[in-house]
Amino acid sequence: APALELHSVTVDYPDGSGTITALDQVSLTVNRGEFLALTGPSGSGKSTLLSVAATLVAPTAGRVLVDGREVQGLGRSGQAELRREKLGIIFQQPNLLPSLTAVEQLLVTQHVRGFGSRKQRATAVERARTLLAAVGLEGQENKRPHQLSGGQRQRVNIARALMGQPSVLLVDEPTAALDAERSHAVVELLARITRDFGTATVMVTHDLEFVDLCDREVHMRDGKLSESVAA
Ligand code: ADP
Ligand code: ADP
Repeated sequence: APALELHSVTVDYPDGSGTITALDQVSLTVNRGEFLALTGPSGSGKSTLLSVAATLVAPTAGRVLVDGREVQGLGRSGQAELRREKLGIIFQQPNLLPSLTAVEQLLVTQHVRGFGSRKQRATAVERARTLLAAVGLEGQENKRPHQLSGGQRQRVNIARALMGQPSVLLVDEPTAALDAERSHAVVELLARITRDFGTATVMVTHDLEFVDLCDREVHMRDGKLSESVAA
């Protein structure tokens, strides 16, 4: 099954006495190892599409499947588990905890749930170190956010999103807070991760330079999708 499927997904938000249709019967399939650029003007529905795929907003109509499993049927706790294990969510701001080191940022979720055994903890620490190395942060594992640059903080954020076994990476303007050079490096990193980890990656971006680093572009307008460039 494809990693991510949306079938005729509609999202209506309440708006005064009526509703706003943020997504209008959107269908989209993203395969493993595919890097998709999601473009379109402000208010066209990009964030809503990411939120529906992230199971943070429920569709008014239509179906969302991750790895062939219907998301709506999972219930709240099943969706939370899906987010932890199958979805990597990367927003504009890294949202790191100021007092924790890079390696600790990646262990927070497991720490909250309890490690179980000493061996499980050691395995998680090992995985966190491997992922930090994979995003180019070898030697920075014990630094806290204020000791890292903006680009390095976004790399910690990306490594953290990989801590489960994500099939799908949902990325909302990852370069919003970065300068041009660091932005390019972060998007190149996401392209490499998509290949190496085989994730289905959906990235909201406004920048044509970054669209060129993707495999495919879909453009939103007024809650509808149109497929365009194949890079
Ligand atoms: P962008 O995705 O372009 O960075 P935002 O997601 O911040 O921008 O907002 C896009 C549009 O959606 C804006 O017009 C904003 O006013 C509207 N919007 C975002 N969140 C809400 C909300 N909770 N209630 C109403 N409108 C919202
Ligand atoms: P984009 O990310 O492309 O800027 P959004 O998905 O944020 O677009 O918004 C799509 C439409 O839905 C806009 O008209 C926006 O104002 C509206 N919208 C977004 N979030 C909310 C919300 N929570 N409540 C009401 N309206 C919203």
